[in-house]
Amino acid sequence: MEVRTRFAPSPTGFMHLGGVRTALYAYLYAKQNHGKFILRIEDTDQERYVEGATEVIYDTLRRCGMNWDEGPDIGGPCGPYIQSERKATYMPYAEQLVKSGHAYYCFCSKEEIDQRRAKVEAAGGTWKYDKHCLHLSPEEIEEKKAAGIPWTIRMNAPTEGETSYHDMVFGDMTFQNAEAMDDMVLIKQDGMPTYNFANVIDDHLMGITHVMRGMEYLSSTPRYNYLYNALGWEIPAYIHLPTVMRDATHKLSKRDGDAYYSDFMDKGYLTEALINYLALVGWNPGDDREFFTMDELVEAFDVKRLSKSPGIFDVNKLTWFNAEYIRRLPKEKYLELARPWFDQVLSEDSTDYARLAELMQERTEVFNQVPGMIRFLAELPEYDAELFTHKKMKTNPAVACEALQLVTPVLEGIDEAQWTEPVLHDRLMACIQEAGRKNGAVLWPLRIAISGQASTPGGAIEIAYLLGKEETLRRIALGLEKARAAC
Ligand code: GLU
Repeated sequence: MEVRTRFAPSPTGFMHLGGVRTALYAYLYAKQNHGKFILRIEDTDQERYVEGATEVIYDTLRRCGMNWDEGPDIGGPCGPYIQSERKATYMPYAEQLVKSGHAYYCFCSKEEIDQRRAKVEAAGGTWKYDKHCLHLSPEEIEEKKAAGIPWTIRMNAPTEGETSYHDMVFGDMTFQNAEAMDDMVLIKQDGMPTYNFANVIDDHLMGITHVMRGMEYLSSTPRYNYLYNALGWEIPAYIHLPTVMRDATHKLSKRDGDAYYSDFMDKGYLTEALINYLALVGWNPGDDREFFTMDELVEAFDVKRLSKSPGIFDVNKLTWFNAEYIRRLPKEKYLELARPWFDQVLSEDSTDYARLAELMQERTEVFNQVPGMIRFLAELPEYDAELFTHKKMKTNPAVACEALQLVTPVLEGIDEAQWTEPVLHDRLMACIQEAGRKNGAVLWPLRIAISGQASTPGGAIEIAYLLGKEETLRRIALGLEKARAAC
């Protein structure tokens, strides 16, 4: 039997990380079993539809390297793969269920239902559709239809007994029908199926063997099984996945900017790092491996190692992965990715980006930190003369005065054309030696004067090189004034 999994998102906005992870597991499972990964767009709830959301889904999956074998844009033997384009497919099955007594027409208006619900709730009960229309005769049904009264088709759910099924993550599940079932709508007044109906029809018609989806569907699965049975269809294997959470009590949220794939891309995380980490939120390889390419994930993935407890998505851990991935990038790739972030504060005409990239790569955890880390190159920050004081280097503003006075003529004596790191290094070292100083006692104040901060990518020489002669000397002069004023 060929394994066929599907990812069935609703185009309601950006791609939630929970969705990306569901897609990932479905993809991995299909690939591992040399099966097919199918993309189906579930857009029957037209009110929730968001323009452009389908493209976001395509784009996200592609960027993540989860290429689908069948889907809306590439077609396949079970198309169309967009539910709104399959509208005509569902009705015959609903009619078949009406004939067999598993479903029925309902003509209740929203207002009528609201009234009856209010009554039940006022009496302290929980509302469920009360099978009001179940016993309409065929003539009454025809009459109402002819009179143009809008109708839906509802499932005739059992009110007694229980339903059991096996879930590959959660094990054997049993639900009381009286609680888990209700006469849910299958076909809406606009003729569209509900998700509850369409997922069953489509999973069957598309030959889905393993249904992977969020655990919020665990308790509705008895209803779907009722439909499979009523239609005489085989029930697929179920793999329900625990929710991805920020911590034990908080979901990932839009407001905190940690819910969507695009949030992380905007911040400058790498897709590969995100996918690697996401795979481990709710699954473990059974050993201490942490780094996986997509191909390695396909190899290593094992449904038995999916966890039942909520997956905790720890942004710090992701950041750690991201830093590792950034460190492993080829230099050129790093520069390519960093360039737009460099451009936010600098320009390639005046700064040697390739050199800056070398200095920054080791220190970059997430690209959105980059502008803040290099802003001092564009503009000398305000700083306090106290920064010149460094116990270990034995410096203070007075020492800084001497140091800056010492290096000024040396640097002035270097031609613009010779302003390179080796030349800067040789000249500065020579003068430090000649003056009988310690390196730190000169280079620390120099670095403070030209960067205005205690922590920088690279040291005094690299920074002086990146700034260029004129700016370096200008900053030294300012530093000298500041140090003097503090003596
Ligand atoms: N369209 C549903 C959702 O986005 C899919 C659930 C499923 O995979 O069956 O939640």
